[in-house]
Amino acid sequence: MRWFCLLAALVIAPACSQPRVIGPTALEAPVVSPPAHASIEQRIEFWEQRLPALAPTDQAEARLCLGELYLEQGAPEQARLNFYASQNGYLSAREDAQAAYGIGRSYLLQDLARQARPHLIKASADLDGPEGDECRYLAAFAGGRAPQDVDARILLRVATYTEAAASAQPAPSVASHAAGHTHVDGHFHDVSRDEWGARRLLANHDSMSRPFRITVHHTAEPARTMRSEDAFREMRDLQRLHQQDNGWADLGYHYLIDQAGRIIEGRPIDAQGAHAGNAELNRGNIGICLIGNFVAQPERGTEYSLAQAPTDQQMEALDNLVDELTTHYGISNRQVWAHSHLKETACPGPYLLRWADGRRSAR
Ligand SMILES: [Zn+2]
Repeated sequence: MRWFCLLAALVIAPACSQPRVIGPTALEAPVVSPPAHASIEQRIEFWEQRLPALAPTDQAEARLCLGELYLEQGAPEQARLNFYASQNGYLSAREDAQAAYGIGRSYLLQDLARQARPHLIKASADLDGPEGDECRYLAAFAGGRAPQDVDARILLRVATYTEAAASAQPAPSVASHAAGHTHVDGHFHDVSRDEWGARRLLANHDSMSRPFRITVHHTAEPARTMRSEDAFREMRDLQRLHQQDNGWADLGYHYLIDQAGRIIEGRPIDAQGAHAGNAELNRGNIGICLIGNFVAQPERGTEYSLAQAPTDQQMEALDNLVDELTTHYGISNRQVWAHSHLKETACPGPYLLRWADGRRSAR
């Protein structure tokens, strides 16, 4: 995979503002690679065209390259899509951290520091050298605590990301969400509907009044994968089930959280959900669903016979999301519910019920 590394060295330079001169020997890789003097656009086209024919391991690395190229091109949504897609189970720990670093930087380009921060923190644990320094600086920056006594060279290399706030460009996907819907939320997800391949919100829904409560669910389907592509497939399956079999306008829930702790946009927040039990219970009620089966259901077969516990990443993401939503909408902790608080159901299982009880009793 040396050739990919060489390419990465060429394109990861976004962090370095100095263009690198590569001698002819550096590009004599045995595998086909873009012409030495190809523009960013040509490199993107080169990899996009070859991607489908590559083996999964090479695809993962090509996606990493594409992510960096899109970042350099100033296309954060496209960059993020590729970084997520690179996490297909074939990356090394370091490459996985590079993907997380890329996801974090893509959010910074959109001036979404709060969304960037968990990815940057996660990445900084596995990145070393100059890249690790930059990542740690950006993680602190995203948390509003950028250190003052930092090497000027680091500041220069991360300037693209720290200066994005000043020139704040709106995220393209915000404008392209379901036509006619203005998003009133602060964009609290990691993965947008466009990124997981959602179909359109259908017309048969009520609009959401100002949210004043939150209800937590589980999908009741076993999930034992950290891979984004598995979670995105599950999102599409669930949406198909809710729209076609249930006849609903969209997914019932507003947010889903996968096993790796990615917060995934479900039904647009300005559309009333279908998750709590009936229209009255759904009014002003934000539905959050954790992907996994947290209740033993032996009657459904051996696969369901053991309840799993939510992962640490899921719980951390849930806490963060609920913190952000309660703050943004002024929702009291007394209005944070487990589904089983509201109606007779096993959902979301004892673990999340205890979590909700803890939240509700905390002031
Ligand atoms: Zn439920």
